[in-house]
Amino acid sequence: MTAQKFVYSFGDGKSEGDASMKNLLGGKGANLAEMSKMGLPVPPGFTITTEFCDFYYKNDKKFPDALRKEVAVALVKIEEKIGAKFGDEKNPLLFSVRSGARASMPGMMDTVLNLGLNDKTVLGLAEKSGNKRFAYDSYRRFIQMYSNVVLGFDHHNFEVILDEKKHEFGASADTDLTAENLEEIVVLFKAEVKKELNREFPQDVNEQLWGAVEAVFASWMNDRAIIYRQLNDIPASWGTAVNVQSMVFGNMGDTSATGVAFTRNPSTGEKELYGEYLINAQGEDVVAGIRTPQSITISGKEQLASNLPAMEETMPDVFLQLVEIYKKLENHYRDMQDIEFTVQNKKLWMLQTRNGKRTAQAAVKIAVDMVNEKLIDKKDALKRIDPASLDQLLHPTLDPKAKVQVIAKGLPASPGAASGIVVFSSAEAERRAENGDKVILVRIETSPEDIKGMHVSQGILTARGGMTSHAAVVARGMGTPCVSGAGGLLVDHVNHFFTANGTKVKEGETITINGSTGDVILGLVPTLKPNLSDDFQTIMKWADEVRVLKVRTNAETPLDCQTARDFGCEGIGLCRTEHMFFSEDRIISVREMILAETLEGRKKALAKLLPMQRADFVEIFKIMAGLPVTIRLLDPPLHEFLPHKDSEISEVAKAVGVDVSYVKHRIGQLHEQNPMLGHRGCRLGISYPEIYEMQARAIFEAASIVKKETGKDVLLEIMVPLVATKKELQILKSLIVATEKSVEQETGAKLNYMVGTMIELPRAALLADQIAEEAEFFSFGTNDLTQTTFGLSRDDSASFLGHYQKAGILEKDPFAELDQEGVGALIKIAVEKGRATRKDIKLGICGEHGGNPASIEFCHKAGLNYVSCSPYRVPIARLAAARAGL
Ligand code: PEP
Ligand code: MG
Repeated sequence: MTAQKFVYSFGDGKSEGDASMKNLLGGKGANLAEMSKMGLPVPPGFTITTEFCDFYYKNDKKFPDALRKEVAVALVKIEEKIGAKFGDEKNPLLFSVRSGARASMPGMMDTVLNLGLNDKTVLGLAEKSGNKRFAYDSYRRFIQMYSNVVLGFDHHNFEVILDEKKHEFGASADTDLTAENLEEIVVLFKAEVKKELNREFPQDVNEQLWGAVEAVFASWMNDRAIIYRQLNDIPASWGTAVNVQSMVFGNMGDTSATGVAFTRNPSTGEKELYGEYLINAQGEDVVAGIRTPQSITISGKEQLASNLPAMEETMPDVFLQLVEIYKKLENHYRDMQDIEFTVQNKKLWMLQTRNGKRTAQAAVKIAVDMVNEKLIDKKDALKRIDPASLDQLLHPTLDPKAKVQVIAKGLPASPGAASGIVVFSSAEAERRAENGDKVILVRIETSPEDIKGMHVSQGILTARGGMTSHAAVVARGMGTPCVSGAGGLLVDHVNHFFTANGTKVKEGETITINGSTGDVILGLVPTLKPNLSDDFQTIMKWADEVRVLKVRTNAETPLDCQTARDFGCEGIGLCRTEHMFFSEDRIISVREMILAETLEGRKKALAKLLPMQRADFVEIFKIMAGLPVTIRLLDPPLHEFLPHKDSEISEVAKAVGVDVSYVKHRIGQLHEQNPMLGHRGCRLGISYPEIYEMQARAIFEAASIVKKETGKDVLLEIMVPLVATKKELQILKSLIVATEKSVEQETGAKLNYMVGTMIELPRAALLADQIAEEAEFFSFGTNDLTQTTFGLSRDDSASFLGHYQKAGILEKDPFAELDQEGVGALIKIAVEKGRATRKDIKLGICGEHGGNPASIEFCHKAGLNYVSCSPYRVPIARLAAARAGL
């Protein structure tokens, strides 16, 4: 214990830490140390390490003497640098106390500013600054924050007093309050604390300091921090650091200010300083959205059509310093930075820098631009873009031809268009989303308590708050469309409606928001396929240059095939033929086939299906020209295809020419207790070979037609589903081979094809060496393989998997992200055994996991040849596959 160093000092061009010590000092602490080392103006301070946080929780939440000693030494260092003393009545030193975890958790934990003020030091501060108003404003802020964060006192109590007094003094804004007004408010605030908590507001500055430090460590375990960690995969053991830093003041009058900025536009990626500031304010005013922030640059002001002056105009000298510093920071970190600063009497101070969160659109543009600027290389660029985030770019946009009724306008806080029904609380959003509704969460402003509701919403709309407000930052991180600060919106939470420029919208009504323009629109608006930028194509090209894994698609309609081709797929990995029968005119024939009791009856139905199948395949083969196409023979879980409703039953009866009672009798006969493990997959082909024979014929005839028309071979891969034994595959393969022979004889076309199987059952994986004697390729059907490995129903487990995740039994939904340990072990066995029998066996995956970045990385390591995923995930898979190899 004694040997361990828990406190690291920084400031004034020196520091004990640096940016590489993020795990120990937290992101904020490490970057403060680094900036200080770079010689940037950073108010001196110290960081108590994340290791101490862990120690604290493991040791009864106590502060050992050794820590107190280290802090005392660090305090003296700061006092010497600043030339002021903590708790000194004439020349007091004040602190901010902030959390700072390894991964940034915006707004999730607590902060205390102006610490060190009491009835005596406030006088010293007034005297020293020559600004009594500022001193009392700082004191009342401190009492508010400290009481809330450390003493657990409801903010609301103070707001009521403040509002009453503003009214009494005739002040419309906080800034209109005079020194005397604030002095009076301080007395009232302290009395309120005394009344409610039955104790005096602490006057001892050391008690204040340790109280605040303790509160920050405690905030690591508050509900919103815990939820945020769960949503973002941050382990609790990481802990937070605590940063204690000497205060600089943005609320010292009109030559002081506070602001936040991004070194490039976080929404578009445009290379421009982008941020907001407030004159005569402290940091929390910007984030809380209490006052409308002003743009830092003139061009930003113009973009927002704001008439408030930009910092570039009000403080041109400081602005130039800021420009110089932000450029230095970007070059140093070689990434877009999110910075916080304060101007105290025209002097600029840097309070934070970190890699800025950005939309996928911005991430792509910044990565490409930085390669062009030679700041990073192509591999860095690929590493900078989270594959899953590309989903945002693939989101639909509003159809420009659609007639829309814009009822309000706000800030374009997070791009993409979303429609849904209006809800006014996070709880209601969750409730409705659970029922399968699409919702738009409408709030005056969001706070970290809303995080769960925001997560389940299609879009977020707030009446207040800027581009860096909580709603904007969090929505961008989530990739959820968001319009913030829609000033024309009057939200009535209590009565569940809002009005926007005369239009009243009640809870449950549908609206559409456009997070790329800031429009709020009444009703549902049709959307269009996204238009991908040149930068996006560049990133995809770079990904393809390093990618080893091929990316195919799961598709069975011409539209899906074309979409996937446009997104750069390299073939079809799974064409589910049963999905080709879902349309109304076809399902009747499938039902007829399933219901038929005799071979003759089935053949009659199959004869109707054959031309439909053949025509579909012709179209698909043409679209996929020259690329491999894996067609899976029929695998219909019977319950998905049998008629249920009376109307459907009588329709089938009519079409087949039998009685309704007969259809009901057959449904009874065919009923299965456990259809997912029932008469499906190749078992159907074994019982009724004529079905697979028809399909094989349709495929080969289509291939011969396309070959004749185009002169090119179709690269056919015929896949048999749900195989457990070699024998099943052997029987069905001979049927396929015989069918091809007869089509070849009839058409004279020599066809190129392979026969393979899905690996969807543990037995098939374990005996893959035997199965590979017949199979020319394997495709891992990890949906069924997960189901059968866990013995978890694909259809029923959603209702309880949540409990498993909460209890920490399963970290992820295994149907979304591959269980690498269990299901992955079976895949590895099958890969090894399959290759032992057939060295060049082609291996792929076509379960949902084929589009999940973490699972794709596993597939890369397991040595598969390709992944196959839904068309819209093809770009995600291309990037994930590339990153897996880096
Ligand atoms: C699978 O089981 O992973 C698969 C792709 O097949 P399906 O989802 O159609 O059962
Ligand atoms: Mg399957």
